Amino acid sequence: MIKIDGNGAYWKTLILMDGEYSLYFHLPFCKRRCPYCHFYVRGDREKEKDALLKALLLHYSRLKSQFAHKRLLSIYFGGGTPTLFIEGINRILSHINPPRNIEITVEGNPEDITGEKLQQLRAAGVNRLSLGVQSLDDTLLSHLGRNHSSANAVEAIETAYAKGFENITIDLMYDIPHMTMGIWQDTLQQLEPLPVKHLSLYNLTFEPGTSFARRQAQLKPHVPREGTSVAMLKYGVDRLKQLGMQRYEISAFAKNNFQSCHNRGYWEGRTFWGLGPSACSYVEGVRFRNISNLHAYVKAVTHSLPLHDFKKGLSQEERWKEHLAIHLRLLEGVDLVHFEKRWGQLPRDTESTLQQLIKEKLLSKRGSRIRLSYKGALFYDTVATAII
Ligand code: SF4
Repeated sequence: MIKIDGNGAYWKTLILMDGEYSLYFHLPFCKRRCPYCHFYVRGDREKEKDALLKALLLHYSRLKSQFAHKRLLSIYFGGGTPTLFIEGINRILSHINPPRNIEITVEGNPEDITGEKLQQLRAAGVNRLSLGVQSLDDTLLSHLGRNHSSANAVEAIETAYAKGFENITIDLMYDIPHMTMGIWQDTLQQLEPLPVKHLSLYNLTFEPGTSFARRQAQLKPHVPREGTSVAMLKYGVDRLKQLGMQRYEISAFAKNNFQSCHNRGYWEGRTFWGLGPSACSYVEGVRFRNISNLHAYVKAVTHSLPLHDFKKGLSQEERWKEHLAIHLRLLEGVDLVHFEKRWGQLPRDTESTLQQLIKEKLLSKRGSRIRLSYKGALFYDTVATAII
């Protein structure tokens, strides 16, 4: 894990980061699609898994020369529900043969977790489990179309811990239709005895193309109002702090030494390569996304055809602004002197934007370090939009 515990360590981290990278594998299989989900997912089709695995291994082999003399810091298997394809994870990890003790995360859903699967993952070198819990209230889980109950979620967490997963992260949501402050308090209360070390907290959004978006006229009246939503977030931040989980990023909370190495890479501008359909990459100032279709992805890799359906090179100025906005998601903030040494000089218009954000009490500044204020952390999107 990258620890930022003082100026020396911070600067050392920045120097090292240009030679560091992370890998993301997208395994898109799910038993059924949740009505709010906008990720690229497919049904749990066994016959597609083999073709995808071959393509992933070939894709990795082609990229391998790019990794020479660079240091792999983390691997993340996301989806989809990667725990539906343990064999694939196993084969990929044996092929890569990653350095010992790097962070290797696998996402899964509570209903798919078994002791046997967990043992296989541990044996393959996986040391971090990310569970899509979303809520610990059965009525809300049913509104969300989830396949698991709160009891399944608790059991999955406890089983994972018993099988040697010390590093367990869960996703929780607020702003769910029919959610009340009482339900939210109860979910956080149930969390207290559980061995969870990291938590990602999201508000539910109605993403275009989802079933929830199509039913928004019916659902939106039941979504907590803005005042209640802000109160839920504030309550969540305070309660999680009491449970020993510090908010270190806008939506991420962690106990001591359990910040996510992989996610920190996204926020700090580390190179990452995405493999699999719809996976995104960021390499030397260029963002690109693989084709969001399993068959097209397999065909493109197999026959060396164009692989991306989105590619954008950022100008020096765009890169600067984007990196600053994303890096500010980390509540420790950004040291502008170090930032300029790494990314180049502050664009002229950004200086006045930052002054304005400080005036509006969305940012605070101490020495050369700027960070989100309490208000800024509540209204991060306003800050990011102003900078970019
Ligand atoms: S389990 Fe996760 S990835 Fe699969 S459909 Fe539901 S939200 Fe999407």
